[in-house]
Amino acid sequence: MAGGKTILIAGAGPAGLAAALELARRGFSPRIVDDGDGPAPLSESRALGINARTLTLLSPSGVTETILAEAQQIAHFRARSTTRQLFELDTSKIPGRFSALHGLAQGATERLMIAALVSYGVTPEWNTAVQGIGLDRNKPEVTLRRPDGSIETVQVDIVIGADGAHSVVRKSIGLGFPGEALEASFYLADFRYSKPIDSHFAEIRLFDPGMVGRLPLAVDTLRFISTLPDFESRIAHPDLDHEKTWSSQFRIHFRHVDRMSAGNVFLAGDAAHIHSPAGARGMNLGIEDASWLAYLIAEGREQEYSALRMPAVKQVLKQTYGLTRLITMKNPLAVALRDFAAPLLLRLPSARHYLLRGVAGYDTPKPPWIDWAE
Ligand SMILES: Cc1cc2nc3c(=O)[nH]c(=O)nc-3n(C[C@H](O)[C@H](O)[C@H](O)COP(=O)(O)OP(=O)(O)OC[C@H]3O[C@@H](n4cnc5c(N)ncnc54)[C@H](O)[C@@H]3O)c2cc1C
Repeated sequence: MAGGKTILIAGAGPAGLAAALELARRGFSPRIVDDGDGPAPLSESRALGINARTLTLLSPSGVTETILAEAQQIAHFRARSTTRQLFELDTSKIPGRFSALHGLAQGATERLMIAALVSYGVTPEWNTAVQGIGLDRNKPEVTLRRPDGSIETVQVDIVIGADGAHSVVRKSIGLGFPGEALEASFYLADFRYSKPIDSHFAEIRLFDPGMVGRLPLAVDTLRFISTLPDFESRIAHPDLDHEKTWSSQFRIHFRHVDRMSAGNVFLAGDAAHIHSPAGARGMNLGIEDASWLAYLIAEGREQEYSALRMPAVKQVLKQTYGLTRLITMKNPLAVALRDFAAPLLLRLPSARHYLLRGVAGYDTPKPPWIDWAE
C-alpha cells in the first residue's frame, strides 16, 4: 500500500513543507525534520515572489486561499532605463485562476504551509538535523541529531533531501553540485513605511551599468535589490517616514545536480539547484519539485522523478541566467542595444505572452494531477 511507505523529509523550508503537505493530503504520514528552531524569520525574507504555478500546486491543500488573503498581488511590472520607461506588463492579464505573481515574505508563506500541515497531523521536528545517510542496506539509513544532542538512526523507505543549498543529504549520497558563481554581488534592503504604499507594482530601474529593483513585500514594506553597493542613495522612497528592517549582501551561484536521486533518496529545491533571484523562481521551482515528487511517490513511480524534473530545472536555470546577464551587463554598447531592443521586442504580443508565462511559472509541464486549465 503506497500510504504505508515510511518517508523522512530533511528540511522544513518551502520545498520540504510542500513535499510533506502533498504527501499528507494523499494519506501518507511523512516525518519532517529541520536543523533550525522554526520557520524563516518574518523580517528576513529571501523569497517573496509567489507565482501562479505555486498557487495552483498549493490549492488542493487549501494553502493558496490563505496565501491570497495575506499576499500582495503584483499586478504591474515596469522596467525603466535612466531616460525612459522601457515597458510595462500587466501581470494580472494571464488566463486562468491566478494572476502571475504575488508578494509575501517567505517566513509568512512557510507559516501558512505549517498550519495546513499540522491540520493533516504532521508537525515539523525542529532542532533535529540529518547528519548522514547510509545506502549500504536495502533501505536508506538516516542518522539524526536530536534536540538534546542524542543520536537516532532510522531506516525508511524514502528520504527527501530538501535541506537547502548546503544539503547534507546531497553530499551523503555523493552527488556533486557543479556550476559557477557570478562575479557581481547583489545587495538588498527592506524598508517599512509609516503608512501603506502602492504595493501592487514591481519595477526595475536599469542604470548604465547596474540596476535597482523595487518589489512589494507587504502593504507598508518594499524590498530594493541591486547590483550597486551605493544603491540606497538612488532609491525614490514613496514616504520619507521609513525604517530599514533588513539588509543583506550575497553572491549569486548557478548550480544544479546532474540527477535528482540516488536509489530511494530524492532531492528537491535548493538542495538540487540554485540560481539568481531574477525572475523569482527559486522557491517556486522547489515547491514544484516537491509536488511532483509527492505525486510520483503516491503513484509508485518515484524512480521517474529525476528524468521528469531535470529538463524543467535546466530550462529555468538557463532562462534565469540569461535574465541575470541582461540586468547586470556593463558594456556600454550592449546596455544601449538592450535599452533600444527591449521596448521594441515587448511590443510583440508573442514576446509579452512568453515573458508573462515565465513570470507565472507556466513554462514548465502542467501538473497532471491538477484537473483544471491553469
Ligand atoms: C535575496 C533572495 C531573494 C529570493 N527571492 C525569491 C523569490 O522572490 N521567489 C522565489 O521563488 N525564490 C526566491 N529566492 C530563492 C528562495 O529563497 C530559495 O530558493 C528557497 O528558500 C529554497 O527553498 P528550500 O526549501 O529548497 O531551501 P531552504 O529555504 O534553504 O530550506 C532548507 C531547510 O533545511 C534545513 N536544513 C539544512 N540543513 C539541514 C540538515 N542537515 N538537517 C535538517 N534540516 C536541515 C534548514 O534549516 C532550512 O529550514 C530568493 C533567494 C534570495 C537569496
